[in-house]
Amino acid sequence: ENFIIAIDGFSSCGKSTVAKAVAKKLQFVFIDSGAMYRAVTLYFLRNHIDLTDTDQINAALEHIHIDFIPHTDKVCVLLNGEDVSEEIRMMHVSEKVSEVSAIKEVRHALVKQQQDLGKRRNIVMDGRDIGTTVFPDANLKIFMTASPDVRAERRLAELLAKGELVSMEEIKQNLAHRDHIDSTREESPLRQAEDAIILDNSNLTQEQQLQIVLEEYEK
Ligand code: C5P
Repeated sequence: ENFIIAIDGFSSCGKSTVAKAVAKKLQFVFIDSGAMYRAVTLYFLRNHIDLTDTDQINAALEHIHIDFIPHTDKVCVLLNGEDVSEEIRMMHVSEKVSEVSAIKEVRHALVKQQQDLGKRRNIVMDGRDIGTTVFPDANLKIFMTASPDVRAERRLAELLAKGELVSMEEIKQNLAHRDHIDSTREESPLRQAEDAIILDNSNLTQEQQLQIVLEEYEK
């Protein structure tokens, strides 16, 4: 039987950092479900898909193929063979991703792909609905939180390090905007699974967070 670890939470709580570390430690496959929503969003932006036109959306989804290529220090995200790892993190994608993620057809397509990725292998997947919708029977569920200021500061540091000029105000607005859409959408909104373990990492180092998840895994 394969083992599934689901890590959910609001934007920029440090989910993927922990998920990556856990996967590395346990030799599991790490899957960033948010990257899949971001890749779809990038495709929709590039192809000027009308988000109110279901036929257009369904046709576009047929043409989207997402792959993950693991490297020693990172995972590359390929959209129809093109490495889009950098571009999907940029503000123009972040600004639209929650609208795209709220579309029922998009969720159905990606949830199905995510479930397939979790078949017959051990995975750590991070996202918003992994423990509730994608893998309701996951072996271990973590729900991560952090204070809004800590989240915004982490995000700002991340984007500035990549050379993207953005202000603290813009980041805070984007996080609040995504949190709102993610938790109020009709289709699998962001919720804490009843059996999830809460991990507030506002005052924890990455090493401490890793240890907490590993302890839960050992139980
Ligand atoms: O995890 P990340 O912040 O990169 O995700 C980007 C966006 O993708 C989220 O704000 C959310 O709108 C959407 N998402 C989702 N369900 C997931 C993962 C991400 O709706 N499982």
